[in-house]
Amino acid sequence: MNTEKKYHRAKKSLGQNFLTDQNICRKIVDAIRPNHDDHIFEIGPGQGALTEHLINTAPKKLSVLEMDDELADRLESAHSELEVIRGDALKFSWESLNDLDGCKIIGNLPYNVGSKLIWDIVSKVKTLEKAVFMVQHEVALRLTADPGGRAYGGLTAWVKNFADTKYLFKVPPTVFRPQPKVDSAVVAFFPRPIEQWPESPENLSKLIKMLFQKRRKQLSTILKKQWSPEMEEWFTREEVMTNWRPENLTPAQFLGLSQYI
Ligand code: SAM
Repeated sequence: MNTEKKYHRAKKSLGQNFLTDQNICRKIVDAIRPNHDDHIFEIGPGQGALTEHLINTAPKKLSVLEMDDELADRLESAHSELEVIRGDALKFSWESLNDLDGCKIIGNLPYNVGSKLIWDIVSKVKTLEKAVFMVQHEVALRLTADPGGRAYGGLTAWVKNFADTKYLFKVPPTVFRPQPKVDSAVVAFFPRPIEQWPESPENLSKLIKMLFQKRRKQLSTILKKQWSPEMEEWFTREEVMTNWRPENLTPAQFLGLSQYI
């Protein structure tokens, strides 16, 4: 396995920055709190940096989803206990995990697809028990931001309606080969009870996109076309001022307002 690792030419197009620091790998795997009853999914196992630590925790089942066939083949021949799924995580049917009793998802995500994947996973996997993802540091700040700040945006408002998030730790470029240009960070996701999930994710997504496309404008201006007496009542009830900007609304207020869209 080690000699093979040496000869893999990292593919930039697939965001291949491989972890080389065993302590960091262990810390990321520990963060998912693995136990023997778990069905764990790893996105983008690459050369197996996290996978090998996951195997050591002896979960009930470990499935990995890798887009690079060459790396998927190597993992499959090195570890017979793995379920290796080949394909694009962006096209994977995340709803298919809803047939399981429960699952945990982990991954050092490729930078270019991290936000999109997290958007999908938190809102589609109803059986998710916990997720831990390493993403670009800036994305980690967005995922864990509070209303009012610059990092708070559409991704924050969406994700926090499905899961609570926690910034765990920062990871410097020096622990990867090849080294990325920016810092990374690890974020944990704790799904909220299903009863609290949006009844109409479509409306919520539409509202979030509509508001954050014009994040510097006032709410009354952006919502001019949708304005109704019911919406006005909602603003009064929630004590939300019409001259606020989208970033001032809490995730719960986005959800509340989305019923009038
Ligand atoms: N887990 C390994 C590690 O930490 O060293 C590799 C992480 S590397 C940042 C991202 C991995 O995701 C690569 O193995 C890459 O081939 C894979 N990948 C990239 N885009 C993908 C996609 N859309 N679906 C599935 N895997 C993808």
